[in-house]
Amino acid sequence: MSKLYNPFILSDGNKPSCMQMLQLILDGEASHEQEAYFKSHMDQCSPCFKSYSLDIKIKELLKTRCCGESAPTELIEQIKMQISQNATS
Ligand SMILES: [Zn+2]
Repeated sequence: MSKLYNPFILSDGNKPSCMQMLQLILDGEASHEQEAYFKSHMDQCSPCFKSYSLDIKIKELLKTRCCGESAPTELIEQIKMQISQNATS
């Protein structure tokens, strides 16, 4: 089986952790190649999938709620808590 080339691998040959990959994606700093790789990675990696969907949910929430006010931090923390509880169970 040919392994999918990992565009996240750093120039020193180190493979970044899920969190590092996720961070790049969520910051919008990932290349198209990296995004595509991450999407297929997410299919097999439920922590990544959960964190990613969590971020999407938060962004949607902020979009619908935010009227120039600051982000509802408490709400975000609440959602994060729920998701991490689900992830560890
Ligand atoms: Zn992962």
